[in-house]
Amino acid sequence: MKISIITLFPEVFKPLVKTSILEKAQSAGKLKVELVDLRKFGIGRHKQVDDRVYGGGIGMILRIDVLDAAIKKVKSRLRRSKVILLTPQGETLNQKKVKELSKEKHLILICGKYEGVDERVRKLVDEELSIGDYVLSGGEVPAMVVLDSVSRLLPGVLKEEATQLESFSQNLLEPPQYTRPEDYKGMKVPKVLLSGNHGEIEKWRGEEAVNKTKERRPDLLKKR
Ligand code: SAM
Repeated sequence: MKISIITLFPEVFKPLVKTSILEKAQSAGKLKVELVDLRKFGIGRHKQVDDRVYGGGIGMILRIDVLDAAIKKVKSRLRRSKVILLTPQGETLNQKKVKELSKEKHLILICGKYEGVDERVRKLVDEELSIGDYVLSGGEVPAMVVLDSVSRLLPGVLKEEATQLESFSQNLLEPPQYTRPEDYKGMKVPKVLLSGNHGEIEKWRGEEAVNKTKERRPDLLKKR
């Protein structure tokens, strides 16, 4: 998969894409990340990318012509691209959506900035995604969330079992997990996990996943 990110701040992504699973996915040839500097598509000598809001209002918004030029340039390099605008007004991202996106060939993520983007940009994109009901100062953090969550689901990046039982994958939270020491200041690892009986362990994990979900996220159980 290729993920292109259109942003005014490509440098903020650089440490992230060189780290951990993202780095592993790229080295294994499963993922290609392209950072596209929106400033390069700016207008005039000052490479202007934003402007004042018609009708008055506080702050500046990104211009449609600048974003259109950037999208066209990025799109022309590959066929079948899905263009996504990061916006607090979009559909809220969840694991189901992340899974859906992980099946695409090419995602183009657009990071807004300042007071947002010209409303007409919505006509240039396939989807609008939000990472939650709060407002951030730019689309960079939301784009990182999409990049990270999608990349780890690409086939061959993580062991399949690692993502199958994870929280949200079956509308359940992951069951509790423990590592050494077996007894830490009187807090003990459940005996069944030390028993070596795989059938019992699986049964326990299944029950604990349901119990935990009931307690913390009963809304998920209604979707099963
Ligand atoms: N004025 C806009 C509004 O009220 O809807 C908010 C603009 S926000 C300050 C600037 C940019 O940050 C947005 O264009 C978007 O790209 C990004 N952004 C902020 N919060 C976001 C969220 N919850 N999810 C996705 N993107 C977000």
